[in-house]
Amino acid sequence: MKRTRSEKIFVGLFIPTVVIFYLLYKYPLWFVDDISTLMPFGKNLSFWYALVYTFTVDYFALKILIKKTNVYSVNRKKPGLLNSYQTWKFSSIVLVQTLVYFLIPFVISPILSGVDFWNDTPRLAAKTAHVYVYPAFTSWGIAAYVFIVIPIVVWFFGKRYCTWFCSCGNLAEVIGTTPWGKKWVQNGTPRGLKAKMIEQLSTIILVFAVLFGLILFLDGIKIITSPGLVEGIQNTQDLLIDFLFGSAIGIGAYPFLGTRVWCRYGCPLAKGMQLFGKISHSRFKVSADENCKGYGLCTRACPMGIDVAAYAHKDRKPIFGSFGLEEPCIGCGGCISICPVDALKFGDIQKLPE
Ligand code: SF4
Ligand code: SF4
Ligand code: SF4
Repeated sequence: MKRTRSEKIFVGLFIPTVVIFYLLYKYPLWFVDDISTLMPFGKNLSFWYALVYTFTVDYFALKILIKKTNVYSVNRKKPGLLNSYQTWKFSSIVLVQTLVYFLIPFVISPILSGVDFWNDTPRLAAKTAHVYVYPAFTSWGIAAYVFIVIPIVVWFFGKRYCTWFCSCGNLAEVIGTTPWGKKWVQNGTPRGLKAKMIEQLSTIILVFAVLFGLILFLDGIKIITSPGLVEGIQNTQDLLIDFLFGSAIGIGAYPFLGTRVWCRYGCPLAKGMQLFGKISHSRFKVSADENCKGYGLCTRACPMGIDVAAYAHKDRKPIFGSFGLEEPCIGCGGCISICPVDALKFGDIQKLPE
């Protein structure tokens, strides 16, 4: 992948920054004896992390919404207008990121509970996202969210949760539309058979998450009580899956492997959504029509490494194919927006290529 000088400098600084930041964030006691020394202006690192993250997501998403040009277009001079699907998607990203992932937990809740806003209790930063699935075995609320709400959403909308709602996906989605990000997605995203086989890694992580969840559940109702075992597995999950895979590689590898490495190879929730979508025959589909000219841009635009063009044409002739959740599609609409002849759409054509 060819990189400009400024991009090389950025990439050189980006990886150590991501690694050091997440190390500091997850394991502050490796660096300082007293956690309260890592609380600028009396706020926990979680607050500052959420603030910077939300600002980054909102900055890029609002820029897209204000400019209103098709950020996926390959025609730089005449990119055309942002379509309504993308407008709703980026609006949802701004709204959800700001309200659900920042204002409610970090501003409104502390204010309503009457604590001194700029005087948090010193505590370790926690990043135990619901995407890891196992928290659903320790809380009825999260269980309802993971096992009822999300499957219903998947049935109606496919895995659009990953492009309209999830905080990890929000960052991936906006970065993937910047000039460098587009290049990283188009040239870095692993494609082909080998890349597809590695996707099974997320099945292994899903199995791990469910088993760990069951252990937590049994521990919670005192059937198995083994604090050493629970602590050991939790530490392993925190270090290998959350820090190393989800954070350091999941974000640090953007410039090399595109923006969806974790989403494609790691996220157990995404694998669960994909399996549920298949079992429940989710109505979600991406379909191709007679306009396809076989340019192949759709495949290059896909951050999940799906060979979209293989469903759209054969020998440059349209084949009217479609796919649903048998592919790891997250409904970003990038393939649809990049197609210069509008040959793709979200729909329900059932025919598959021969
Ligand atoms: S794949 Fe997982 S982490 Fe990525 S956007 Fe979807 S739910 Fe979030
Ligand atoms: S669907 Fe559009 S982008 Fe994809 S191969 Fe056909 S013409 Fe090209
Ligand atoms: S197939 Fe299209 S809509 Fe689905 S993830 Fe790939 S680019 Fe996005």
